[in-house]
Amino acid sequence: MPELPELQAVAEGLTTALAGIEIVGVTVDSPAVLTSADPPLEALVGRHIRGVERRGKHLLVDADGLTLVVHLMSAGRIGLAERTGRRPSRWVSLRLHLAGDLDLRLRERSTRRRARVTLLRSDRLDTHPHLARLGPDPMGLAPEVWRERLATPPGVLHTALRQGRRVAGIGRCYASEIMWAARLAPLMRTASLDDASCERLAAAADLVLGRALERARTHITTDLPDREKRLTVVHGHYGEPCVRCGSVLARIGFNDYELVYCPQCQTNGRRYADRHMSRLLR
Ligand SMILES: [Zn+2]
Repeated sequence: MPELPELQAVAEGLTTALAGIEIVGVTVDSPAVLTSADPPLEALVGRHIRGVERRGKHLLVDADGLTLVVHLMSAGRIGLAERTGRRPSRWVSLRLHLAGDLDLRLRERSTRRRARVTLLRSDRLDTHPHLARLGPDPMGLAPEVWRERLATPPGVLHTALRQGRRVAGIGRCYASEIMWAARLAPLMRTASLDDASCERLAAAADLVLGRALERARTHITTDLPDREKRLTVVHGHYGEPCVRCGSVLARIGFNDYELVYCPQCQTNGRRYADRHMSRLLR
């Protein structure tokens, strides 16, 4: 799933490539992708793209008073491609046709199509159900703001870090990396975060996301790759030695993903049981 660094890099790359370019047509290849009817998508035709901005995990395409809000979810990707006469692949769900034979395409290589786009008047962005409730960006956030955002309402750290209404833009990968860097236990209660933990958390978020953003900018310009090329130390490294202490990294298995942590650095040697839930009980 693309998170803050990758989305920020593609927003910057698309802005550089597309600012001032005219939208000459729109094709909806998968009608379920569109969640709004007014204004109609055709209202984009004839307008010029002013830029692409990231807010949390949303991308906002600004086109002369209208804004296309794109939420890619796990498998959605956005990218610029040359327009050809051929039918696009079945994974493509929306195309903005641009002057100069370019298409800005939304694709989703998954049988569960969850990416969504909403077209709003730019002065009505606060009516978007997600954008209106989005918390602040995690980079540069003061330790006391971290505490305030995570502790109320109380929650479990690894979940709270990924809730956009608290702090926007973090997903599973960078939540794991940040908790490892801050030496915090994934299942700790957020109400018990003390001053020292919040200071470590703020520093870890700046470091982890700052490095990832720098790296993303080197290989992402106008297209989000299907698989992220990330440098991680815990996410995806179950069973390998911790690069800080050498202990074998452990994991908590959930139904459709796993969370990797270092029992030495993060949980005082404690190992968590898996948290698979029966589908019948959910
Ligand atoms: Zn360790």
